[in-house]
Amino acid sequence: MKKTRVAAISAMCALLYAECAASAPAKPAVGLSDVYATLATKRFVDLTHTFGPTTPHWKGFGEERVTTLYTIKKDGFTVQQFTHVGQWGTHIDAPAHFHEGLRTVDQIPPQEMLLPLVVIDVHGKVARNPDYTLALEDVSDWEAKHGRIPEHAFVAMRTDWAKRWPNDAAMQNRDAAGVAHYPGWSKDVLKLLYEDRKITASGHETTDTDPGVATTHDDYSLESYILGLNHYQIEMLAPGLTERSA
Ligand SMILES: [Zn+2]
Repeated sequence: MKKTRVAAISAMCALLYAECAASAPAKPAVGLSDVYATLATKRFVDLTHTFGPTTPHWKGFGEERVTTLYTIKKDGFTVQQFTHVGQWGTHIDAPAHFHEGLRTVDQIPPQEMLLPLVVIDVHGKVARNPDYTLALEDVSDWEAKHGRIPEHAFVAMRTDWAKRWPNDAAMQNRDAAGVAHYPGWSKDVLKLLYEDRKITASGHETTDTDPGVATTHDDYSLESYILGLNHYQIEMLAPGLTERSA
């Protein structure tokens, strides 16, 4: 008798549980205010450099000019006019930068600008070899620790080259023959990230996607490859990248 009652109670509990499970939503709804509350507890890292007339830049660009049009003292408000190329300081390279007919910055939707961040940290290897280019092994090492790189990620390459900012000569790191020595991406890694892992964008601390030994000879094929896929990249990220899971 007792046994039957226990069995009956168990059956009821099981039913109740099943009912609860059926009526409870699979996941509690999360609104944007919840997302903001979570974000507000986090540390924010600004990965952009402050630009100015001494900003390191590509050899073909002119200097930045800043003209003061109004001052608080004279006019009650202050306004400055900036003249510089679009690819100035920490900047986005839209696909149209290299390929006619592909997207310009205004055609990149905001959904492509809030992305899971993946930082592949090779600053130790770069310290030993300034010509270092990212290897497939660096990606597999990251994935062994953090799992597969998620789709729609922003993958940043940490080299600590940003610590040379704003010293243009140190950024270019040219030898006596005029060959620049700074790190870069590799085609193997970019192909894996964009075509297989389906990332949305990538970024680096240097002035170029391609390593200095390539750009010295005007070889920008890696940058052309990324932009040719109609994806964008960010160049000259400021110090502050730390390896982390997405
Ligand atoms: Zn650029």
